[in-house]
Amino acid sequence: MSGDGLLGRCMCGAVTWSYSGSITRSLVCYCADCQRATSSPLTAFLGFRPEQLTWTGEVRHYESSPGAFRGFCPACGTRLYFRSLKWPTEIHVHAATLTDPKSYQPDAQVLVRSRVSWLDMLGSIPSHDGFQLPPASTAP
Ligand SMILES: [Zn+2]
Ligand SMILES: [Zn+2]
Repeated sequence: MSGDGLLGRCMCGAVTWSYSGSITRSLVCYCADCQRATSSPLTAFLGFRPEQLTWTGEVRHYESSPGAFRGFCPACGTRLYFRSLKWPTEIHVHAATLTDPKSYQPDAQVLVRSRVSWLDMLGSIPSHDGFQLPPASTAP
């Protein structure tokens, strides 16, 4: 994918981002901190040059380890980026916030030593276009 004219947003739309520049990395991370921070077994990132990334709306961040910051929308909680003082020339934006998430193309997987083993089972677990069961009734 090209890094020209990429757009993204949080779930509620209070935060948007736009980017025109080179994509420094396009990776899926399995590390324990990303799992905890995103409540998800894997996290897809796009590496951007911070000076070529523009945000609108209020973004807050959480310092998840010394010098590492994870940004989020305070209105809806959507995770937006990872940034570390160790890598000052990059910001890693969550690829799932792309306006068109299906356009994402990772080219690396990292911290696979922390990958949860049940991901390997997905290919053999029954899958459904919608939900496999209707919502449970709340009536006694
Ligand atoms: Zn939001
Ligand atoms: Zn990670």
